[in-house]
Amino acid sequence: MASEQPSVTRFREYLRIKTVQPDPDYETAITWLQNQAKEIGLEFNIVRFNSTDSFTLWLTWLGSDPSLKSVLLNSHIDVVPVDPSKWTYDPFSAHKDERGNIYARGSQDMKCVGIQYLEAIRVLKAQGLVPLRTVHVSFVPDEEVGGLKGMLKFVQTEDFRKLNVGFGLDEGVANPEDSFHLYYGERAIWQVKYTTRGQTGHGSLLHENTAAEKIHKIINKMLALRESEKARFKENNLQLGDVTTINMTMLGGGLQPNVVPPELSVVFDIRVTPNWKLSDVEKMLNDLKEEAGSETTYEFFQRSDVTATTPLTDDNPWWVAFKATADSLGITLNTAIFPAATDSRYIRDLGIPCLGFSPMNNTPILLHDHDEFLNENVYLRGIEIYQAILPNIINLPKSLNFASSLPTKIDGCVGAVIETPKSRS
Ligand SMILES: [Zn+2]
Repeated sequence: MASEQPSVTRFREYLRIKTVQPDPDYETAITWLQNQAKEIGLEFNIVRFNSTDSFTLWLTWLGSDPSLKSVLLNSHIDVVPVDPSKWTYDPFSAHKDERGNIYARGSQDMKCVGIQYLEAIRVLKAQGLVPLRTVHVSFVPDEEVGGLKGMLKFVQTEDFRKLNVGFGLDEGVANPEDSFHLYYGERAIWQVKYTTRGQTGHGSLLHENTAAEKIHKIINKMLALRESEKARFKENNLQLGDVTTINMTMLGGGLQPNVVPPELSVVFDIRVTPNWKLSDVEKMLNDLKEEAGSETTYEFFQRSDVTATTPLTDDNPWWVAFKATADSLGITLNTAIFPAATDSRYIRDLGIPCLGFSPMNNTPILLHDHDEFLNENVYLRGIEIYQAILPNIINLPKSLNFASSLPTKIDGCVGAVIETPKSRS
């Protein structure tokens, strides 16, 4: 058997550390990353918050002009749970088959990216490159459960402010095609629960003002909006990030078959496209409450008000450098709004431009799925891509105008949301 590239061996080592929710082994990962820092010659930093599973660590490659805005390369350490019975190989064995496919939870989402950053820096450093700008490679916990103990905490600290970050890279998604996905924004998560209350009584009568009549109006309106977005998505061949998705995810209530329930509830998982104004969505939710009738309330399980996007325009030097490198490598980028949420929302919300990119093409999308794998050649090619992109980003001269490269909030077409779906064009 041909000997394995050391960078692949290191990737497989990292994959074997069980940083799996809900009880991730972070300490082993921290120690392992600390060793990587030592080996490569990077500064190791860690800030710990109030519990052992709440922290951020970052490896720093000092630039020749530390006063310039730095570059943050972020990845999350945690991975989602597995059902081992559905896997061909142990999901934490990092088994490599004869085709070079490396099977492990986190092989795509997103331990690959964290190690690719480090392996690219290892090579560039060995080649003698000294970056103009300082580079921080951050590893955060908790992303798969919301990032509250990781990136969200970190961005609020003085430690983060001192990093003086000007641009960030974070995760994307694999693409089965030859091109690569590149994300410049994401949708806002709004998970909302409506509760309706009304007249209770015997199931053989026709009561007025029942909880069911009220919740019926809410469900109808929400599902009609879902239909209209679904139609818009299909008819215009859009990407998920361009539309707002609404899914009814929970229903609750009822006492027994012959009792009209005094209370019913319904939960919707709404992902709002940045093309819509959040204030309009909020108005729609309020109107819905009013229309449903008295004793109707709603509350949020989760609500992210971040809809900042990073402009992919010629006046954004970070993007220009990224795109030029991709062009020189002959790489096609599909630019889009990320359909779900990642930690980069916390970075963009500070006004820092951030792109979501995982260099995985010709690879089935298996994040959070059984038998998640990444082929070693795709992984190795990803390191080469970062080796090409990083120097162009970390050496961007001071003289360039970065003022306009802040994320912008798109004021979109959202009046549409509050109209009834039927009347929309
Ligand atoms: Zn991820």
